[in-house]
Amino acid sequence: MIPMENTTGTPSHEEERVVKRGVRLSLRERELRQVIETVPDILFKVRAKDLAPEFISPAVKKLLGFTPEEMTVDPGLWIRQIHEEDRARVTAAIRSGMEEKDFLAFESRFSHRDGRIRWIDARLTVQRDAAGTPVLLFGSMRDITERKRAEEMIQRLAYHDILTGLPNRTALNVSLTQAMDEAAARGHSLALMIVDLANFRAINDTLGHSNGDLVIIHVAERLKSVLLEQDLLARIGGDEFAVLLPRQGDRRHVRIATRTIQEALRPAFLIEGIPLDVRPVIGVALFPEHGEDANTLLRCADVALFAAKKSHQSHLIYSPDKDTYHPHQLSLMAELRQALSRDELALYYQPQVSFKTGLVTGVEALVRWQHPRHGLLLPDQFISAAEKTGLINTLTAWVVDAAARQDKIWHEQGMPISIAVNLSMRNLQDPVLISSVPDVVQATRIEPRTLMFEVTESVIMEDPLFVKAALQGLRGLGVRFAIDDFGVGYSSLTYLKQLPVDQLKIDKSFIVRFHEPGNAAIVRAIVDLGHDLDLDVAAEGVEDEPTWHALKDLGCDAAQGYYFARPLPVTKFEEWLRISPWGLKK
Ligand code: C2E
Ligand code: MG
Ligand code: MG
Repeated sequence: MIPMENTTGTPSHEEERVVKRGVRLSLRERELRQVIETVPDILFKVRAKDLAPEFISPAVKKLLGFTPEEMTVDPGLWIRQIHEEDRARVTAAIRSGMEEKDFLAFESRFSHRDGRIRWIDARLTVQRDAAGTPVLLFGSMRDITERKRAEEMIQRLAYHDILTGLPNRTALNVSLTQAMDEAAARGHSLALMIVDLANFRAINDTLGHSNGDLVIIHVAERLKSVLLEQDLLARIGGDEFAVLLPRQGDRRHVRIATRTIQEALRPAFLIEGIPLDVRPVIGVALFPEHGEDANTLLRCADVALFAAKKSHQSHLIYSPDKDTYHPHQLSLMAELRQALSRDELALYYQPQVSFKTGLVTGVEALVRWQHPRHGLLLPDQFISAAEKTGLINTLTAWVVDAAARQDKIWHEQGMPISIAVNLSMRNLQDPVLISSVPDVVQATRIEPRTLMFEVTESVIMEDPLFVKAALQGLRGLGVRFAIDDFGVGYSSLTYLKQLPVDQLKIDKSFIVRFHEPGNAAIVRAIVDLGHDLDLDVAAEGVEDEPTWHALKDLGCDAAQGYYFARPLPVTKFEEWLRISPWGLKK
């Protein structure tokens, strides 16, 4: 407004009105200015075309460390202060937003002049010209750093383990679901591993919880240091960690990863000057092979972990036949109960040949299930579930009885063949089953030494003293014992020496791949060890002639395997006996 010159010296009415309005306006402006200056939020006005600030309130000094003048003199300054990870997103959102909307809002990180990060909530109103083109943006910015910190803290508590700072089970579930979606979209596989410290309870009990906590922290650090950036490590239980390999669900990668983890945890942990060994056991499940949702995959890894612990292996990949909860297994178990009464089980016999005579001396009785719908089922498909449900005792009672009756028939026919029967841990723990063995021997009047029981090395190591006592109980009867699957179960020599056994059966994994590096040396060592302990040594899994010769050279006593015969039903086996060069002397 241009002031009007008054030539008379006294103000006219019009002049008075203008002055009063001016005073009122400047009063309002001052009030407004005061308000603006005291509001803790930043109020601002920027040009739509280049986002240069035309006005910015003094609160900016506290929030970002710059004066309003500094901000307006350097029009690009406020944009440069947006955190670099947010900058492109924010400017793009403003530019495209103002074309379509009259009101915009965003949250973003800004850098204070001193370098600290502030979180800011910004709201903008768009002012347009008559043609609708955005001209100005009016807005406010509020410091929400405290609120963001609180949110982050809540997030951390909900998704992280407090002790190690690692993601927890909830976070793992979220990441696993995302990783599975991504893998499915790209046709990848992925692996989920659960790492359990088998002896952690003992550490906690002997050294106290605070030292137990220290072990967990150190284990977490070591695991983290050997995993790749893309792998996810989570703590999902007291002594349980999960490792997610997002793109590497093939068995070769899993083997490498399990070995890396075992190696990383091998050196002892020093806690209060005491070196402590942890014994990691790993269960693995693969996507998409074993499950298509996070819960199923976790459960499968858990089942594999349980099976690995039970069989004293350092790691195992899930397999459905080890899983009693597998829907297929559950219904199978219901059917196995009936199978026993419906005569659907059968014993197959696989010969064992003596190196000394080149002739068969005994057989191993291996159970088969002729299932009405699924066809012939192998023991791998139902034994471990039968062990978990307790049905194994009924099954073994049937096997012992059937084997003893066959033993009697062959001996009555003048065929000196001994029969070996496999026992599970649950069998040894069942007094009813154990006490039925003498009854069977008596009822069939077989020569007790022609009945052999096989107990795997890993069952023995599950509870060596108990197994020793159980075997000794039957020993008085005159039956014989073999340690099955020897070489994979971490036996301690101390226990081996004390066990009342007659034969060591070398695990077939060494024999089937006898000609791979290292295996011959292991087999030689087992043969020598067995002989030192006065035991017969048998090799299981002989598939070809070179292996037979090599084992003979090592001084092995007996061999079993496809090279001689597969497990055969009784009539087929008797036919084999008649025609095979390994069969009984004619
Ligand atoms: P095992 O006692 O170690 O039996 C030997 C297994 O190796 C048998 O598998 C046999 O078919 C297989 N085998 C024999 N020769 C060869 C060979 O040259 N090459 C290869 N690759 N494999 C060979 P099967 O019959 O499937 O039995 C598997 C396991 O099931 C047995 O292992 C045993 O632990 C268990 N099992 C079988 N019958 C019974 C039973 O009546 N009771 C219990 N508790 N377990 C049983
Ligand atoms: Mg066996
Ligand atoms: Mg075996």
